[in-house]
This record gives sequence, C-alpha cells and structure tokens, in this order.
Amino acid sequence: MRREDPQLPPSSSRPVLEIRNLGLEFGTPRGRIHALRNVSLDVPAAHVVGIVGESGSGKSTLACAVMGLLPENAVVTSGSILFEGKDLLNMPAQAHRSLLGDRLSMIFQDPMTALNPVRTIESQMIDIQHHGQGSRGEKRARAIEMLHRVGIPDPHSRIGAYPHHFSGGMRQRICIAMAVLVKPALLIADEPTTALDATLEVQIIHLLKDLQKEIGCSVLFVSHHLGAVAELCDRVVVMYAGEVVEQGTVRNIFHNPGHPYTRALLECDPGRIKKSTRTLPTIPGEVPSLLGSKVGCIFRTRCPQAFDRCAHDHPVEYRIGLDQVARCHLLDEERLVSA
Ligand code: ATP
Ligand code: SF4
Ligand code: MG
Repeated sequence: MRREDPQLPPSSSRPVLEIRNLGLEFGTPRGRIHALRNVSLDVPAAHVVGIVGESGSGKSTLACAVMGLLPENAVVTSGSILFEGKDLLNMPAQAHRSLLGDRLSMIFQDPMTALNPVRTIESQMIDIQHHGQGSRGEKRARAIEMLHRVGIPDPHSRIGAYPHHFSGGMRQRICIAMAVLVKPALLIADEPTTALDATLEVQIIHLLKDLQKEIGCSVLFVSHHLGAVAELCDRVVVMYAGEVVEQGTVRNIFHNPGHPYTRALLECDPGRIKKSTRTLPTIPGEVPSLLGSKVGCIFRTRCPQAFDRCAHDHPVEYRIGLDQVARCHLLDEERLVSA
C-alpha cells in the first residue's frame, strides 16, 4: 500500500488530471518542433502541482493542451489527457469548450488575455457564471462578494468599471476572482505573477493558496519562480526541452533533487543564493533545438555529469524513494551497484 505524505492533503483515489505519454509537435516551415515528448503526470484532487523549467521547455504548450487552446499547427502525436476520467483529446470540441469556465478554468500571465477590454467587469463576471444557477441579481452579488474576497476595494461601485480602469495587479486579482467564481475542479495558472512586482507576487500567491483551500480545487501552477512554487505547491514537475525530467513532492524536489538539471535550476535560483552578487548565475549552454528526433539524454550537452551512455540511451524514469522519479542514468541501480 502507498503511504500518504502527512504534510500533504489526502488524495482521493483518482487524480483530477492524468496525462500519459503525451507527445505534441508544431508544424513549421523549418520542420516539426517536438514541443512535448512522452509527458506523463498526475494532478491529484485538492493538490497544487507546479511546473517549472526554462523558457521553451513546453510548460504553456502543456497547459494549452489541457485547456484545448492549442494553435492550428499543433499535432498531438501520442498519449492521452484524462480529466475527471474523461478523455479530453478524443472529446468533441463543443464538449471540451463547455468544460472551460465550468470544471476547468485558467489564469493567464497577461490579464488582458482573459478580460474583454470593451465590456464592464460586471457583465464579464456575470457571463462567466452561465453554467451556474440563480438570477442575474444573485450572480452579480456573488461577483461582488468574490471581488471583495480578492481585495478589490469598494467592489459595489467598481464592478461597473472597465478593465483599463484597474492597475495590472488589480486586473490579475479580477482574473483570479473570475477563475475561481465558477468553482472549477482544476485551475490552470500559467505564470500568473510573472508580470507583477515582488510584493504583489507574494500577495497573489497567498490569495491563490487561500482560495484553493476554500474551494478545494486542484491547481496546475506554471512558474519560473521557484520561491513561488515552494510556497504554493504540494508537488513539482520539472520540464526540460519538452520532457518531464523529474517530479515529486515539493520537499523532495527542493531538498533532495535527483536530476542534474533540477540541481542546476536550484543553484541559479536568486532566493537560494546566500552571497550577494551583481550577476545571477545561469545554467551554462543552451536549450537544444526541438527540431528533429533525439537520441540519448536531452540534457547531455549541458550536463556536468554526462558519461558515455548518455549519448545513446534515452533515460527511463528511475524511482527515488516513495514519491519521486527522475530521468537520469546516474540513478540506474545497476550503475549504483557497480560504482
Ligand atoms: P516560457 O517559459 O517562455 O513561457 P514555455 O515553457 O511555456 O516557455 P512553450 O511556449 O510551451 O514553452 O514552447 C515550447 C516550444 O514550442 C518552444 O520551442 C516554442 O518556440 C515552441 N512553440 C510554441 N508555440 C508554437 C507554435 N505555435 N508554433 C511553433 N512552435 C511553437
Ligand atoms: Fe546528465 Fe547523463 Fe543524467 Fe542526462 S542521463 S542528466 S546527461 S548524467
Ligand atoms: Mg509559457
């Protein structure tokens, strides 16, 4: 029997989101870009799962695949995405769309992506509740209550304003209010705090955490900011060049990273650098091109520990303890035994 981590909320038997062996390519004039390769992860009920990785690692592509918001040139080449047990990839587009703003909702990096600039906050917050019960007056009252909850001052009068009447931080609070108003089973937040200053970011993270607990929803939280992930998430998925290279509980990933890439990311995190420095360290080398097929380990050109096998064998997921896996040959038991 698998033991639960006592620090985590209890997980029900079936995860809200189950992604298995997902492969996705973008067709471009230069060839096919392999944006996701064999991606598998779960988001358990009432858990917050963070996705971290450098720019271009496929975080937003994964979020958009779940939301059904992929661009025309995207082709899913393998795998499945099950949401509440339903197969999102084989669902009619209409059925997928009807989940959005109901069981599934999303917060984007730029609040103006989600808000319509020519409509009042009031009309947008009432419309978003179209699946919900109650009169227009009741929906308006719920919207005001939620605006108050996310810290919009004087929501009774401000609900009639347009998005451009609010600051960037306030607009993001409004987007959060809209996303949670529908009480989704899964909330996807793609870099929701990246455009905000550090103080606002802390406030928004605390707000998201409180609302997640109140509603009991699951959250898939995409972020560059490891401090925010450590604060908000129960589990972390580390992506590199379209692959999940490591995943596990926040505690394991931050205190006992098993993959050289995770260790390199942590070493470059400004929040963890003890000495004062003018220049932040970066991981040497560049993310490999995603064009064409790959052999061996995807991280080998930048890995300080790469050895012969890394050039021709693609690492499988090796288990580290009860609840952590990483794709690195260094974790192969046979190698550990013979070393
Ligand atoms: P960031 O941290 O910068 O937001 P990300 O991890 O979200 O990065 P994605 O936006 O998912 O990365 O992009 C993954 C890869 O897919 C990148 O190489 C990107 O250039 C490519 N890509 C994304 N959208 C398209 C598209 N519509 N057509 C072609 N390539 C695309
Ligand atoms: Fe480095 Fe090899 Fe592990 Fe890849 S498999 S991370 S190249 S040691
Ligand atoms: Mg992105």
